[in-house]
Amino acid sequence: MNLNYPITYIKGISVQRATLLYTELGIKTCNDLLNFFPFRYIDKTKFYQIKELQPAATEVQIVGKITNIKSVAQKRGSRLVATFQDATGSMELVWFKGQKWIKDAVKINTPYVVYGKLNHYNGNFSIPHPEMELVTEYKKKLQTKMQPIYPSTEKLTNSGVSNKLMRNYIQQLLQQTYEAIEESLSLEIINDFNLMLKRDALLNVHFPKSQENLAKAQYRLKFEELFYIQMQLLRKKLINKAKIKGLVFNEVGDSFHAFYDKYLTFELTNAQKRVLKEIRKDVSTGAHMNRLLQGDVGSGKTIVALLSMLLAIDNGFQATIMAPTEILANQHFTAISELLNGLPIMVDILTGSVKTKKRREIHRNLEDGTLHILVGTHALLEDKVAFKNLGIAIIDEQHRFGVKQRAKLWAKNTLPPHILVMTATPIPRTLAMSVYGDLDISVIDELPPGRKEVKTVHRFDSNRLSVFKFLKDEIAKGRQVYVVYPLIQESEAMDYKDLMDGYESISREFPSPKYQISIVHGKMKPADKDYEMQRFVTKETQIMVATTVIEVGVNVPNASVMVIESAERFGLSQLHQLRGRVGRGADQSYCILLSSFKLSTEAKTRLETMTETSDGFKISEVDLKLRGPGNIMGTQQSGVLNLKIADVVKDSKILVSARNTAISVLQDDPNLSSLENRPINKAFAKMAASSKIWSNIS
Ligand code: ADP
Ligand code: MG
Repeated sequence: MNLNYPITYIKGISVQRATLLYTELGIKTCNDLLNFFPFRYIDKTKFYQIKELQPAATEVQIVGKITNIKSVAQKRGSRLVATFQDATGSMELVWFKGQKWIKDAVKINTPYVVYGKLNHYNGNFSIPHPEMELVTEYKKKLQTKMQPIYPSTEKLTNSGVSNKLMRNYIQQLLQQTYEAIEESLSLEIINDFNLMLKRDALLNVHFPKSQENLAKAQYRLKFEELFYIQMQLLRKKLINKAKIKGLVFNEVGDSFHAFYDKYLTFELTNAQKRVLKEIRKDVSTGAHMNRLLQGDVGSGKTIVALLSMLLAIDNGFQATIMAPTEILANQHFTAISELLNGLPIMVDILTGSVKTKKRREIHRNLEDGTLHILVGTHALLEDKVAFKNLGIAIIDEQHRFGVKQRAKLWAKNTLPPHILVMTATPIPRTLAMSVYGDLDISVIDELPPGRKEVKTVHRFDSNRLSVFKFLKDEIAKGRQVYVVYPLIQESEAMDYKDLMDGYESISREFPSPKYQISIVHGKMKPADKDYEMQRFVTKETQIMVATTVIEVGVNVPNASVMVIESAERFGLSQLHQLRGRVGRGADQSYCILLSSFKLSTEAKTRLETMTETSDGFKISEVDLKLRGPGNIMGTQQSGVLNLKIADVVKDSKILVSARNTAISVLQDDPNLSSLENRPINKAFAKMAASSKIWSNIS
């Protein structure tokens, strides 16, 4: 049987049933069914003796005899209790349903194989509703000792597609196709990693003979899955590099030099220099840059972005930088304008609140090339925004933008501009490899000198008074303070009330005129927000009460205390981002996490992680473990993470070797044309034809 045949070729699968399997589980072809893996196994390889039973055991299998069976009255109705013995001891089997039928059918003093969930109560073991089979019957059957349990849905169960049925279909299929299952990795890889052959891996993942075989089968299939994802990402990268002509910035010209020599008031960190070198290498060679720049908050990404834009400008191109919020766009605009003040470079800003007249002017200046750098928000993506010759597009804070937006920026030129994506949310390496395998990755792993670590503590709400006292002391020293409230969409109204209540109580505790307070939240008009922000920036106010709108990018070096209310409700990356708002000046900074007394285990872990480390990468690793990759990356990328058997978090070691293997295969044989790599070439071609990965990544 050909594995591409629809599953209706399998005995017992009608067209109707096939349709159901397709709509419920996405299984269409025989190959789909073979690659539909069990999510757990009932292990019947082990037989227990009654005396060795442990309260912790879950499902057990025992051989013994029923010596006695009787009904026992209980509050409502009765239960049927059998005394079950082997040579080492005795226990009970219990039924609540079908009692009469069982009582009649059971053979006393006859050996049975009994299997079921073990209960432990008052020192006695029992199994409720056990599976039972006479030993004589058991011996007649060919045993599949580890039983696969497949994922199912209510609809399937209701339509009679039981686990047993799925098992039978797959068993049948394996029997008929085992010989025809082709190897999809090269012998070299199989030998190097001591992998199980493909057909044996499939056989053993469905019907393992032992835990050991199962582990080997799973390893092989995970390796293969991750290997092919990496192959696709890497090949795409190679093809893009070869096909997409990049704009060439081979001149390091006046603007770059002038800025570097005269305007840059500090020495770049080694990490910044390294990243800049990487970028310059990309843009000078005629290749197309598609680079992810990771760097913790405060690591100095903006300067790197600016220098990259100056390179573009020196070569006669325009540059744009896109930020996720208006506040952040404004801040970039202000910072860049200030940094470039005096240089003949025109910078402007386009956001949703720019008035029509100004907007037209910007459009005009963009099209005739007078405008060199355009800073903005999503408003940049509108079709009306056309550049004369966009050379580089920088996207700040990647996690807020989807892949679609990246693609839209691409379309802004005949030749795609170089793309630099900057993120302050460090993505664990393994995840970055699977999701951004098509991007080159640069990391700024060094903070500018002189930064002091932010002291972070966790306090319960009941300690609020001492926290306020601390704030007063800091304000007396001339520092400024943020107080942040959670704003989570589902309960926005309530959160808003929390914020207002908080604002009031802080106003009472910190009375005017001695203290001045700014408040910023999402429901305010942009102009009002800016006004309040500005008052804080100019030190007119000492306290900024805000929702998470300040999360991204705000830069007020004099602010040295970050108080996070209901900290247990924030995610780790949010907490980390918020903490990054302080510790930007020379003073010792503090982050105070306030929470209620009652905390979930997960919330406890988050708060502990925050007090223990300030390393963004460590924090993101914990976050990944707590929340899983899908939640971290959002839905856009989940397609890539929609793995059948591997797990980007748990199988990160396999991922690394799969990726390295893919790299070395492609280095030696980029077109996969060698005899050795023929199985890979074939499998790869098949996959590429049907895979959605291509469209999931820009
Ligand atoms: P982020 O990576 O969070 O975007 P920024 O680019 O906003 O960080 O930089 C944070 C602060 O550090 C800014 O005030 C910036 O001027 C300053 N800075 C950046 N690089 C250096 C450096 N090499 N030495 C000293 N200060 C720096
Ligand atoms: Mg920044």
